[in-house]
Amino acid sequence: MRSFTYTRAKDVPSALQDLSSHQDAKFIAGGTNLLDLMKIDVMKPRHLVDITGLGMKSIEERKGGGLRLGALVTNADTAYHEQVEKRYPLLSHAILAGASAQLRNKATDAGNLLQRTRCYYFYDTATPCNKREPGSGCSAINGYNRNHAILGHSEHCIATHPSDMAVGLAALEATIRVTGPQGEREIPIADFYRLPGDMPQKDTNLGEDEIITAIDLPSRGFADNYAYLKNRDRASYAFALVSVAAGLEMDGDTIKEARIALGGVAHKPWRKPEAEAMLVGKKANRENFMTVADAYVQGAAGFKYNEFKIELARRSIVRALMQAAKIDQ
Ligand SMILES: Cc1cc2nc3c(=O)[nH]c(=O)nc-3n(C[C@H](O)[C@H](O)[C@H](O)COP(=O)(O)OP(=O)(O)OC[C@H]3O[C@@H](n4cnc5c(N)ncnc54)[C@H](O)[C@@H]3O)c2cc1C
Ligand code: SF4
Repeated sequence: MRSFTYTRAKDVPSALQDLSSHQDAKFIAGGTNLLDLMKIDVMKPRHLVDITGLGMKSIEERKGGGLRLGALVTNADTAYHEQVEKRYPLLSHAILAGASAQLRNKATDAGNLLQRTRCYYFYDTATPCNKREPGSGCSAINGYNRNHAILGHSEHCIATHPSDMAVGLAALEATIRVTGPQGEREIPIADFYRLPGDMPQKDTNLGEDEIITAIDLPSRGFADNYAYLKNRDRASYAFALVSVAAGLEMDGDTIKEARIALGGVAHKPWRKPEAEAMLVGKKANRENFMTVADAYVQGAAGFKYNEFKIELARRSIVRALMQAAKIDQ
């Protein structure tokens, strides 16, 4: 681990000031991802701005409905918050499917969204990786690519985003609130993450000089008909091979609205609104769910070790929708 300097910010303006006045500076929240990456020399900040003293640790009602999750609320406090459990059980389940109890006690909501990929080569500094070292190449494309993308990948990077929480937030259509030198702005979660393209080193559209202050949940939480299904190599403490967050708005057994977000398959949580729209006005049944699942994976392309994910994604979508619709499988 390289040496670095450290300051503790008192408020958002001083955090932004600290960040901009130090070269190669990073914010640190729970530290559960950043410190791991610093220890193995994958991330090399020269200065850390500790933001854990900034407040931003409460969950509040929003005017007009919805909840505002402070950026520094822990994953555990979010998942077990009475209103989140009651109104957004999909999000609770997504968060609790991730990491371990100890990690969730420390990990913050903003830090969770900004965790880096779990591509093996990104972690191995002896191998080329365009995300870690732009222009060096991608070791995964012709390497061991079991946990890699089947959708939206590029010739420069086939990594996936590892956050479970982000998949739940994508289905709920949450908004990320950020502050930077130009003031505050809101980024819909659909625009927050990027596809790798020819700039895989950039995971999100958050500015280098911006801080996440909160995550806004809209009023609709799909609390009656939801599912978060995570398929992984071990039953716990493992990242998703394929995950599905599903929310249905039902009128009897007819679907009024459907939301489906996939994790573990792309550089960002994967939505396909035109495929979701195919369910509107349709009966909730396996046949209709299979049609939409086929549409979701249309255009998917796997690699040597992850081809299986295409069928896994298809079946997982059907299963999650059956669970959300409360149909016996
Ligand atoms: C063994 C293990 C298993 C795990 N399994 C899972 C899993 O299955 N699913 C899952 O989703 N996650 C999993 N995780 C990841 C874990 O959820 C993340 O490490 C954690 O959520 C990161 O939060 P943090 O507060 O510790 O972030 P930090 O490590 O402090 O920060 C992460 C990044 O976010 C930036 N940052 C933090 N807060 C802000 C802010 N407010 N504004 C701007 N930038 C900010 C930091 O600069 C840093 O770049 C696992 C982690 C480990 C170690
Ligand atoms: S998939 Fe992306 S993160 Fe993994 S080696 Fe290739 S460039 Fe690096």
